[in-house]
Amino acid sequence: MPHTPLPNALHDSDTSGAAALAVPFTTTPGFSTLGEKFFTRLQPTPLPSPYLVGVAPAAAALLGWDAGVGAEPGFVETFVGNQVPHWADPIATVYSGHQFGIWAGQLGDGRAIRLAQADTATGPWEIQLKGAGLTPYSRMADGRAVLRSSIREYLCSEAMAALGVPTTRALSIVGSDAPVRRETIETSAVVTRLAPTFVRFGHFEHFAAHDDVASLRQLADFVIDNFMPALRDEAQPYQALLREVSLRTADLVAHWQAIGFCHGVMNTDNMSILGLTIDYGPFGFLDAFDANHICNHSDTQGRYAYSQQPQVAFWNLHCLAQALLPLWLPAEDAGKEGARDAAIEAARAAIDPFRDRYAAAFFRHYRAKLGLRPPAGGDDKVDEPLLTSLFQLLHGQRVDYTLFWRKLCGISSQDASRDAPVRDLFLDRATFDAWATDYRARLRAEQSDDAARELEMLAVNPKYVLRNHLAETAIRHAREKDFSETGRLLAVLSRPFDEQPEAEHYAALPPDWAAGLEVSCSS
Ligand code: AMP
Ligand code: MG
Repeated sequence: MPHTPLPNALHDSDTSGAAALAVPFTTTPGFSTLGEKFFTRLQPTPLPSPYLVGVAPAAAALLGWDAGVGAEPGFVETFVGNQVPHWADPIATVYSGHQFGIWAGQLGDGRAIRLAQADTATGPWEIQLKGAGLTPYSRMADGRAVLRSSIREYLCSEAMAALGVPTTRALSIVGSDAPVRRETIETSAVVTRLAPTFVRFGHFEHFAAHDDVASLRQLADFVIDNFMPALRDEAQPYQALLREVSLRTADLVAHWQAIGFCHGVMNTDNMSILGLTIDYGPFGFLDAFDANHICNHSDTQGRYAYSQQPQVAFWNLHCLAQALLPLWLPAEDAGKEGARDAAIEAARAAIDPFRDRYAAAFFRHYRAKLGLRPPAGGDDKVDEPLLTSLFQLLHGQRVDYTLFWRKLCGISSQDASRDAPVRDLFLDRATFDAWATDYRARLRAEQSDDAARELEMLAVNPKYVLRNHLAETAIRHAREKDFSETGRLLAVLSRPFDEQPEAEHYAALPPDWAAGLEVSCSS
């Protein structure tokens, strides 16, 4: 489908009178080549008196900008949606999905507007405004995002990237005092997100639900050709796509578990086809370890509890498999039992590798966190007893997850008398001592060098994660128009594995008032 820009996208349309922003990239149509079944062309809805809340230097660099770009003429107006630059072709995409295990029908970008795909030295980046106004997919909602959740998404996207976890990125936040009703009246913001593509499992489910196999195939081809070209050479590229997504999702969730990240709303419309963390809403990092921690106050059943994330990811892959099935089961064969069984078997074979991949990634992460080498013979089962007893210990005593791992880095393989920093995190020290004896035995068995191991462990066990109370403090300041705390926190979280003596308090246990914090789907 040819690229047909809207007439008003030929010139900068500007409701603010600001100069146009110079950009260091070219743009290409990307997703918008798919045609109008996939999206609606539209314009962002302006917000009054926008102000810059922050620009994330690392995300800006992806597009070829330095951190000062926020002060450039036109930046604020462009990334709040008040000025539509000539290089933009704004669209909102349509998708469907399963929410909390139930088919929810059509959803779509209800408040996200993709401005363009930037082609840069760091690859293609779709530039998307979140909170830029109503779209045809807004349903009963207002198309806006509040400052509170925008700050959370901005900080966490960049924190996750710095932790090495695949994620969408956040370029900037622009605020406006325009009121938005949630539980209370809050103010608006637009967070600009970046991703190679924002395609979700739900995009595929949408076309499957409409029996639109041609569009389904078109979308699968788009993803393969642009993001996984090696799959073209496979005998069954669509099954290979499903397998690839399964493997990426397994890696992603294992990484989440290792750093203690809870997504909070793992609906199929919040699952990236590239295996990125996407849609930061009521997420949370574990403070006191509770395997069944539910970070989302709206998740009354605990469907998306920390311990459930791997299973839920696999369930979501079943939904994706179901959606892709028509690509290898033509409609004329769907009624034939043998053909149908074979197609389902192929789908199952494509997602089943999730299990082994997840298990392998899980053990890889936790061995690295413990500073252990792979067991002789490579059988992960050898490490299971040590890990299981550790999780029981952490869970039983509600030990702070991040502090535990960080302090474990300094343990001696020879000398239990130097255990105090980590041992003191446990109320019942004797149970820790019993576990530490086994751990130390394993370290000695593999002749672990304490100094070398400590350095390796410090590089995988972060000191700084975005605990809820840290985000909350930044939000409270931002509501008073003081954005310096958001900037400071972003800078600290951008170096999560480094000791930052001036930022020690960001690594401390949550204060008592943090226990009262609740995050929900309201954003
Ligand atoms: P989420 O739970 O944030 O993943 O959103 C689920 C669906 O609701 C998606 O289609 C969103 O675009 C849509 N949505 C959430 N909040 C809003 C809002 N304030 N305005 C319009 N659509 C929204
Ligand atoms: Mg979503």
